[in-house]
Amino acid sequence: MEFDREGELVLPAARGKALRLKAGSAVRITNPFGTQAIDTWAFAADDMSEYLSMENVRSFNSVVCIDQGVALVSTERRPIITIVEDTSAGRHDTLLCACNPAIYRELGVKGFHRSCSGNMHEALTEIGRDIPFTPAALNLFMSVRVEPDQTLTRLLPASKPGSYVTLRAEFDVILVLSSCPQDVTTINGPDRTPRDCMLEILAPGAFA
Ligand SMILES: [Zn+2]
Repeated sequence: MEFDREGELVLPAARGKALRLKAGSAVRITNPFGTQAIDTWAFAADDMSEYLSMENVRSFNSVVCIDQGVALVSTERRPIITIVEDTSAGRHDTLLCACNPAIYRELGVKGFHRSCSGNMHEALTEIGRDIPFTPAALNLFMSVRVEPDQTLTRLLPASKPGSYVTLRAEFDVILVLSSCPQDVTTINGPDRTPRDCMLEILAPGAFA
């Protein structure tokens, strides 16, 4: 697809990044190995108390995972971002919390370990923003299956190398992405290795 490329940057393995996206602009997130989970948050740029809400997304769409076409609504139940391209295996998770320091303590990690929750707060701080809690994340490229008995199974990543997801801002937003630092479990692949991903900022109108 043709687009005006405004910029390209690396989302380093196990790190987070906050992006200011103008209404109509988009970011393409490419997963070079297909294995890297990307925890994703979106906040209204002019009012951080409105944000992409997994609870409202599930309620609004009557779904538990995300494919292209599902309305990604905010706490005000209006679309805040939209998946305009998705070459991944889809079925992006909405159910699991962002990893956090307590999870790594449960897993036996001693001392500091980077986490998606920590990455989100760190990334917001870098652009002079703050939020006093961690909303549930949209877990792009993460595969979690609801079993017939309603338990959850964490699956290995199912996307092909080089697959990508493109998110368009429906109004001015702050998008926060975290390359999940999980290296104890296999949620980022059987080799338990967080990977760099590529971000391309696409001009407004590229996906009008
Ligand atoms: Zn994580």
